[in-house]
Amino acid sequence: MISFFKLSKDDIIKKIVAAGFPAFRGKQLIDWVYNKNVFEIDSMTNLDKAFKEFLINNIKLINLETIKLVEDEKGETIKFLLLLGDRNTIEMVIMRYLDKDSSKNRNTLCLSSQVGCKVKCPFCATGTSGLVRNLKAEEIVQQVSIANSYLKQFNAQINNIVFMGMGEPFYNKDEVLQAASLIRENYEISSRKIAISTSGIIEGIKELADKDLKYVLAISLHAPTDRVRDYLVPINKKYPLNQLIKACRYYQQKTKKRITFEYIMIDSMNIWPDDARQLANLLKGIDCHINGIPVNSVSGSEFKRPKKKDMYEFKKLCEEYGLSFSIREEKGTDIDGACGQLRNKERK
Ligand code: SAH
Ligand code: SF4
Repeated sequence: MISFFKLSKDDIIKKIVAAGFPAFRGKQLIDWVYNKNVFEIDSMTNLDKAFKEFLINNIKLINLETIKLVEDEKGETIKFLLLLGDRNTIEMVIMRYLDKDSSKNRNTLCLSSQVGCKVKCPFCATGTSGLVRNLKAEEIVQQVSIANSYLKQFNAQINNIVFMGMGEPFYNKDEVLQAASLIRENYEISSRKIAISTSGIIEGIKELADKDLKYVLAISLHAPTDRVRDYLVPINKKYPLNQLIKACRYYQQKTKKRITFEYIMIDSMNIWPDDARQLANLLKGIDCHINGIPVNSVSGSEFKRPKKKDMYEFKKLCEEYGLSFSIREEKGTDIDGACGQLRNKERK
């Protein structure tokens, strides 16, 4: 079996030609999948019988099945629960940024890289069950087509990718980088519009730097001291802040790219005035932007969302220290928008 979503468009055509069919058949198949978002070979009306038969016996297309779809009231956040071939489930989320001028609409896909995650950040719904398995590149790439097939009704398609769903992308580095490269090529999404978010796996950051891959690097920082970060992002015990920041400086020196730091804001935990001061100290000299994310409380959790006033005071203080800081527009909190939450509910 040839896995369709593991190959570039050129390689698909090569396989089809090697099997004795003319190249235009391959182009037709590609048109059905990537332009028309049709994944059922039987529905591809312009293919002849012999070619359809070949495809049915030799090509594996979509094998992820949407088993639940939740939209928020405004239709801006759409959350999918997807069933994998081995009955595991993952989540993905489409975030739509709608403009009066519809040509300016942005559609961002938050996709998953693993089933579960072994980093086990205590506030994160994905981490609670540990790592189940890595996703294969083709399982990652398919998520984009599934999202596009949903967006077809709006005449829209995904134009931004964030690896911020379930899993730690750099603990599945090879498949994630292969998937990112296929997404770039097959969906024509430039690397500047693909963000990889990591809890701070140094080898991954270094590899992006050394290969000069132009993806957007996002680091889940969440705390300016090892004491608090050890607790919030347990991988910090293995890769403490001084190593992480050193890797970020190395990355920036090599790529000249701005780094995004994600900073979950938790009441009475990491937004004290002194945290702003230490954060500014830690990030001194790095060209970066900080994305403050109000924590999404998993029910019954000790992690409470701060008061609005406290979050904005923290932002203001950070800005006074010279940091560029924004508070992420909230999306999807009414539909369990933080990845892993929908899946946990379903499992229960
Ligand atoms: N594992 C990677 C990428 C997936 S998590 C990472 O940690 O960076 C993507 C982002 O969602 C991270 O910044 C993570 O900290 C955040 N996140 C996880 N649980 C959350 C919650 N309950 N509320 C708000 N953000 C959350
Ligand atoms: Fe894993 Fe990221 Fe969740 Fe931490 S926040 S447990 S690294 S998915």
